[in-house]
Amino acid sequence: MPTKDYYKTLGVEKTASQDEIKSAYRRLAKQYHPDLHPNDKEAAEKFKEINEAYSVVGDPDKRGKYDRGEMDMGAGGAGFNPFGGGAGGGFTATGFDDIFDMFSDAFGFGGSRTRSRRSQSSVGSDITQQIELTFMESILGCTKPITFSRLEKCPSCHGTGAKDDAHLKTCDKCGGSGQVRHVQNTIFGQQITVGACDKCGGTGKIVTENCKTCGGKGVVTKNKVINVTIPAGVENGSVLQLTGEGNAPRNGNGRSGNLLLEFSVKPSALFKRDGYNLYVNVPVSYLTAVCGGQVEIPAPDGVFIHNLQEGTSNGETLRFRGKGIRTQRGAVGDLFATISVEVPKGITRAQKKSLEQFENDNTLKNYSKRRAFLDEIAKTYPKK
Ligand SMILES: [Zn+2]
Ligand SMILES: [Zn+2]
Repeated sequence: MPTKDYYKTLGVEKTASQDEIKSAYRRLAKQYHPDLHPNDKEAAEKFKEINEAYSVVGDPDKRGKYDRGEMDMGAGGAGFNPFGGGAGGGFTATGFDDIFDMFSDAFGFGGSRTRSRRSQSSVGSDITQQIELTFMESILGCTKPITFSRLEKCPSCHGTGAKDDAHLKTCDKCGGSGQVRHVQNTIFGQQITVGACDKCGGTGKIVTENCKTCGGKGVVTKNKVINVTIPAGVENGSVLQLTGEGNAPRNGNGRSGNLLLEFSVKPSALFKRDGYNLYVNVPVSYLTAVCGGQVEIPAPDGVFIHNLQEGTSNGETLRFRGKGIRTQRGAVGDLFATISVEVPKGITRAQKKSLEQFENDNTLKNYSKRRAFLDEIAKTYPKK
């Protein structure tokens, strides 16, 4: 008899729409994902419950059965198998794939961990390539030719590894399906995984004479150059995943791995960044700070002129909204320009004279901070 309230587990009403259930599931699954809580049994248990609940009420058919009390609930959580026998990959088939999609969404880049839980046999390995970018390339985005070598399907044997079709036999272990079933008890319950046959490597075929071109590997190494468009706003250490541009799987036909571009961004002498905001230090002359005037402000799309107000102090920061990093996804940062008043050095006797003139004509009323400072000194050290 159903004793578990799957709606409660997901924190939704019984009347919730499938979309509402899905978004509740995604939110919770992200929160309790084991990758975020290593060695936390409570989180693992919660994650399991969320998946169990979603595997039922996330599926309109199963949800109907569950609502009508027609669902066989088995012997509680430990033996629960949402697929009632687990044909075709068991527990991993819906829940995990969904989470991995979601993780790719959430992080934008990367997500190579998604590969590890999928069938190893028919998926090629990933290639990681370091890409050096100038700071401007990283904030503006760019197109770059990427040179790398990867395994590609052998053109002579088309990946079979055999000299020809006559030297390819059906595997006797898996009967040609290339797959064998493993049943495993895990903290998520019984997990039935359909894995690659170890005898034929998942191809379903046994090679009796190797292909001359690839020596039976089914793959050959090729040097590649591809033009890659790197989006604006990538950071030092960010990884861009190019799906399917990695190595072809050995022994047979399947999905190629991914090409992972890991960026190393050279620092800029002008800019610092924090998220999508940019920070720039702008030295200005003493005269410009005192009297105001035009100053050059560097921004991603070029230098613009700003009219500095008269009486700008050293260290004042101006904020230019929307002048930071602008990504294709629509994120926009701000530009912060900190004014640095440079005290002139090595001035001539004549220049000194005119400055003395300036100071003589000036009175303390023009210097509010200095005035306050002198007042404070007078109070702290009263004259005896
Ligand atoms: Zn070959
Ligand atoms: Zn086999």
